[in-house]
Amino acid sequence: MQERSVDVAIIGSGTAGLNAMGQVRRAGRSFVLINGGEPGTTCARVGCMPSKAMIQVAEDYHRRTHLGKYGVDGHEALTLDSTEAMEHVQELRDTFVDRVLGNSTDDMPPDLFIQDYARFVEPTLLEAAGQRIRAGAIVIATGSRPLVPEGWRTFGDRVLTTDTLFELEDLPVSMAVIGLGTIGLELGQSLRRLGVEVTGFDQLQTIAGIQDPEVASCAIDLIGKEFPLHLGQTAELADENGRIRVTAGEQSVVVDRVLCSIGRVPNLDQLNLSVLGVPLDERGVPEHSPTTMQVGDLPVFIAGDATGDRPILHEAGDEGKIAGFNAAHGTVQAFRRKVPLFINFCDPNICAVGMRWNDLRQDETAVGEIRFAPVGRALIMGKNRGVLRVYAEKQSGRLLGAEMIGPKGENLAHLLCWCISQGLTVGELLRMPFYHPVIEEALQAALYDLYRKVEAKNSGGLTELEPL
Ligand SMILES: Cc1cc2nc3c(=O)[nH]c(=O)nc-3n(C[C@H](O)[C@H](O)[C@H](O)COP(=O)(O)OP(=O)(O)OC[C@H]3O[C@@H](n4cnc5c(N)ncnc54)[C@H](O)[C@@H]3O)c2cc1C
Repeated sequence: MQERSVDVAIIGSGTAGLNAMGQVRRAGRSFVLINGGEPGTTCARVGCMPSKAMIQVAEDYHRRTHLGKYGVDGHEALTLDSTEAMEHVQELRDTFVDRVLGNSTDDMPPDLFIQDYARFVEPTLLEAAGQRIRAGAIVIATGSRPLVPEGWRTFGDRVLTTDTLFELEDLPVSMAVIGLGTIGLELGQSLRRLGVEVTGFDQLQTIAGIQDPEVASCAIDLIGKEFPLHLGQTAELADENGRIRVTAGEQSVVVDRVLCSIGRVPNLDQLNLSVLGVPLDERGVPEHSPTTMQVGDLPVFIAGDATGDRPILHEAGDEGKIAGFNAAHGTVQAFRRKVPLFINFCDPNICAVGMRWNDLRQDETAVGEIRFAPVGRALIMGKNRGVLRVYAEKQSGRLLGAEMIGPKGENLAHLLCWCISQGLTVGELLRMPFYHPVIEEALQAALYDLYRKVEAKNSGGLTELEPL
């Protein structure tokens, strides 16, 4: 078998792999990029972008339910052509995929971009497309795939995943969404708003991974008004005359299709990682450092969803950069990771920032809260639902984290994340300007509530203004 040598071999041309390649190119090293399956990234093909396109259509269509309040005539007569809606989602998706390919692999010669699945022969030797590649360093960026229980595969295309959902030409009449984490909840709500009879199931007693009990109960209440949520029991499937009966404890429903969104598994099982000689966890993920991305003490790095750690896009990008940098420079430089930021684009948005509820030391933490019901701007928008909870260190007033379900949560979460990154206190935040009437006034109210509960107070007589 033909063998050739490169400085760095990157396995996977998703977001993590492409970011790694950027670092290797910048360092002027020779490399090869190897990708099995469809190129174009999970984000653009079957992830962030088509899901957000679907959410947008669903939200715009759902807005008709408010129009009667303004005296808009004919809003009740609005209908949706779901085939056209799906075509729109597919067209946008294709645009995003083309854009990724145009900026990355389209013009790469076959010796630099190999389209095949790779596997390890030795820690620095790979096999792909009938050739062997000896690499000074290797980056594993193979992403993840939807987890589907073996027994559910017998239902064929009646059980959908995010790999197949966006391909639908038309929407089914009824659907069960099993798994109400970020992906299941976003898509379940959108499908409901697009007219599908959706029933949601999750074995946990919470949705969207929410940990704060106040936020969780508010979210379950709000989302539960749109479609039934059956929580706390494992769902089972059975064939019923060509349809599917979904049963969880006492709850049972017969549907046309099931969206299986119970989690994702790292694509590591085909790589023959046992040759690395490092411990693998139960998902097959090799022991690695989250700050250097190094696997054991080998010249091998891992990045993106393949790590199973932080399966979101900006983290995959960061990990790709760290892995690519270290692989290209022959270093194991550690990099500080960013403050955690999670956004669920359901309506209202569900977000978590910084330290999570379960990790807080409750005796040393102050909690501020605002309900969105009376917030002026939220009321004007017809979106005054939800709750925002902010956490700070009681003694120093330093902001630690937040969880929320509320309008424009995606923006509030960014503001909070940036403030936590800067190590700011509640008092310092209250000295920032807040325009009127904006949704940030809800954050201001939560901060006032929090400020009352922390020991550190602003000096100079006025909380909001610094004396000259
Ligand atoms: C429905 C959905 C919605 C999402 N929404 C958001 C969102 O709104 N915001 C957000 O931040 N994140 C979101 N994500 C997560 C985000 O898309 C992922 O975290 C990110 O795309 C992971 O990038 P990656 O480079 O690790 O993997 P990928 O982009 O999956 O790339 C991995 C590549 O490696 C290839 N490969 C696998 N095995 C091999 C092998 N043995 N040899 C060679 N190649 C191989 C794969 O075929 C693939 O092309 C969403 C995900 C999904 C599924």
